[in-house]
Amino acid sequence: MAVPLLDLTGQYKQIGNELEAAVVGVLASGRYVFGPVLESFEHNIARYCDAKAALGVASGTDALILSLKACGVGPGDEVITTAFTFFATAEAVSNIGAVPVFVDIDPVTYNMDPSKVPQKITPKTKALMPVHLYGQCADMDALNTLAKKYDMVVIEDACQAIGARYKGKRAGALGDTGAFSFFPSKNLGAAGDGGLITTIREDLVETIAMLRVHGSKQRYFHHFLGFNSRLDPIQAALLDVKLKYLDDWNEKRRENAAYYNQLLGDLKGVEIPVEKDYNYHIYHQYTIRVKGLRDRVIKALEENQIGCSIYYPLPVHRQEPYAYLGYGPGSLPETEKAAAEVISLPIYPELTHSQQDEVCDVIRQVVTKAAR
Ligand SMILES: *Cc1c(COP(=O)(O)O)cnc(C)c1O
Repeated sequence: MAVPLLDLTGQYKQIGNELEAAVVGVLASGRYVFGPVLESFEHNIARYCDAKAALGVASGTDALILSLKACGVGPGDEVITTAFTFFATAEAVSNIGAVPVFVDIDPVTYNMDPSKVPQKITPKTKALMPVHLYGQCADMDALNTLAKKYDMVVIEDACQAIGARYKGKRAGALGDTGAFSFFPSKNLGAAGDGGLITTIREDLVETIAMLRVHGSKQRYFHHFLGFNSRLDPIQAALLDVKLKYLDDWNEKRRENAAYYNQLLGDLKGVEIPVEKDYNYHIYHQYTIRVKGLRDRVIKALEENQIGCSIYYPLPVHRQEPYAYLGYGPGSLPETEKAAAEVISLPIYPELTHSQQDEVCDVIRQVVTKAAR
């Protein structure tokens, strides 16, 4: 039995009728940009995240770019972030003319290590951009304390963390702004690209709203340079339907993670994910570490038609566009070690225990064979 890394058709089978009705409703309404369907979704997701406001944009990448702009980050400023993330995190910083400064990760959570932040702060530092990697929040109390002390804004890259909680509070309400992605593979996925910015700061709402419409409040009168970055009502309609199911789906992912933990927890050489006791992890990815045997495990999984992936094989500081920053090999040791050892396994809500048994049997075989 093949086990894909992700299968979105199961979700469609579950709620397809509802999704189709939502799309048809928008088509019939004649409102294809902005309008009540988008506003309703924004209202619901702001409430879901305990944020003051939520504003739809065209992608998670744009959510990061517009957040940085709204917070006044610009050319020459430095933004402290992590290199163990999807490329877009740093790309957003660079595309507004600022410079990403990479700190190493905590090897247990894969998130920004707050203890390593102070040594990276310079007079040019303007913002902290932690990533809630794989769906588990970074240590936000420690990061917010630093932000206050050194006068930095905090932009959460919450693209993988919708519904995650830190000490009871939702991702997206833990910094000045939160950036979300509705890329189809995310826990709340659109039928195409989409993104959203949450904020707990009333004073940022109007600026963000203007940034997504060419810096205008009233049509054809422009106060600053902005973007064309909107979340389509068709996507908002789909997402509003799916939002009702999100908590159940996230719970299902957590159950699947717990089952994997049970199957893999005693395997020597395999490290299962660690959920900090103050976190509610939503397992966008279920990521294990395999020391030394990764290539063999991946090969065996592939031979058995089991999907897996490496997030991320080449950390951002080692990517071509960042060669100019001069981070040599070994400059972020925990990031580089993680990039060499992680494997993400199928974890979507519709995954069955027998599929998980199969995944773990293959891994167990490789690991026990190597130990003999
Ligand atoms: C998905 C993702 C993004 C980018 O989102 P898009 O919607 O694809 O632009 C940014 N950061 C992280 C951590 C992501 O996982």
